[in-house]
Amino acid sequence: MAQTIETGLEILHPGGEAYDEARTLFNAMIDKRPAAIARCSSAADVAAALRYGRERGLEIAVRSGGHSVGGMSVCDGGLVIDTRPMHAVTVDPEQRLARVGGGCSWGQVDRATQEHGLATTGGRVSTTGVAGLTLGGGSGWLERRHGLACDNLVSVDLVTADGSVVTASADEHPDLFWGLHGAGGNFGVATAFTFRLHPVGPQVLAGLLLFPASRGDDLLRLLREVVPEAPEEFGPAVLYVRVPPEEVLPAELHGRLVAALAVCHVGPVAEGERILAPFRALGPLADLVEPMAYADFQCMLDDPPGMRNWWTAEYLHVVPDEAIDVLHRYSLNAPAASQSAVIPWGGAVARVGEDETPLAQRDATWVVHPFGLWEDPADDDAVMGWARGLRDDVRRFSSGGVYLNFIGDEGQDRVRAAFGERKYRRLVEVKRRYDPENVFRGNQNIPPTADR
Ligand SMILES: Cc1cc2nc3c(=O)[nH]c(=O)nc-3n(C[C@H](O)[C@H](O)[C@H](O)COP(=O)(O)OP(=O)(O)OC[C@H]3O[C@@H](n4cnc5c(N)ncnc54)[C@H](O)[C@@H]3O)c2cc1C
Repeated sequence: MAQTIETGLEILHPGGEAYDEARTLFNAMIDKRPAAIARCSSAADVAAALRYGRERGLEIAVRSGGHSVGGMSVCDGGLVIDTRPMHAVTVDPEQRLARVGGGCSWGQVDRATQEHGLATTGGRVSTTGVAGLTLGGGSGWLERRHGLACDNLVSVDLVTADGSVVTASADEHPDLFWGLHGAGGNFGVATAFTFRLHPVGPQVLAGLLLFPASRGDDLLRLLREVVPEAPEEFGPAVLYVRVPPEEVLPAELHGRLVAALAVCHVGPVAEGERILAPFRALGPLADLVEPMAYADFQCMLDDPPGMRNWWTAEYLHVVPDEAIDVLHRYSLNAPAASQSAVIPWGGAVARVGEDETPLAQRDATWVVHPFGLWEDPADDDAVMGWARGLRDDVRRFSSGGVYLNFIGDEGQDRVRAAFGERKYRRLVEVKRRYDPENVFRGNQNIPPTADR
């Protein structure tokens, strides 16, 4: 049921398809029923929605792409501010800037920027929201060359808890701008982002090399050896994944667990081929790496929605053989459609100074990211147990930090670990300034009352 209030803001109440669509997240485990969902098309709408929610004492959650694995972007009985109607993308090819609505998905941004042969680091799945991903850091194929998504921010337009409309940039509200580089939706509702763009493609050398899962340890060892010497244009990851029954993938491999090298090389094709040579020498079952449109590769790994998800992650600084053995052993036993991913960092990610953004431990060598994916609730314990087991076993090689975009709700210690104590305290100060009542707590929360 829809209601229209002042400023023309549309509010959905329980009942009807639009309400159900707007409360549904990517993770099928989340089934929350908000009292109201405000469909916001402008900063004025967001301010009106905040007023509406606060006057009624409603808990407030903010959603864009709906990919919060912990289900933090919806709330039971509260108000959801749905930013997806703000999905315009305007590209200035001369200045190499994109102005992106606060409710855009990465697919929308990639398509618009690639029309000009430009891109910025975005998520590896096209349906992920720009807002949640960028505000949490933003890991993607271009990161070793161009930094995380948040490193490419020029400014963010935000509606803060009291309804003020502010622009945060290096010159305006610099403390807030700093906090928006990793501390998520703690400080307000983003209505627009301005990103720096870079020449990318449009054709890049990208795709997958699929190996028997039993060769995954060899693949990981090779990844460890090759990446530090490779140019930053080389964006790889290793995924243990069950081959989905898709036409582009060899039918004889459908349903089989494989170890895949996923790669997006944005430098010259010949250079990419040279870097790939030792991987190809391992003898892949299928070689699906070829020149293709960057925007197409950005959709190639889109996971189907409607699955149950439980995610976790650790940073590794050094990667001894024992760590690879642990990863490999668990990954060979990945239950249902679960996957484990290893993403090498370095390059531009590591060049950003420790104090320039809240994110700690940018010098991590690998981000290790097991994610449980399954359909049957009867498998919940087994799958979550597998992901937790991998995380706990690999933790002895971990630096203790964590990348919050890749985990669900794992409590305050993990939030602190993502930033380190000193920067966490600085974030608490920013939170007190911009959201002293913790209106925005449907996130990896930094409570204003936390010890400073
Ligand atoms: C299939 C899949 C693939 C992913 N791939 C990547 C990846 O490649 N790289 C990576 O870094 N992460 C990745 N993630 C993690 C993802 O970045 C986080 O889950 C992120 O929070 C999702 O953003 P969203 O806007 O889609 O989610 P939502 O569920 O809509 O929002 C998540 C949180 O972001 C905040 N938020 C959302 N919109 C706004 C807004 N307009 N203003 C202020 N705050 C807002 C809120 O705090 C909200 O709780 C992936 C997740 C999934 C499920």
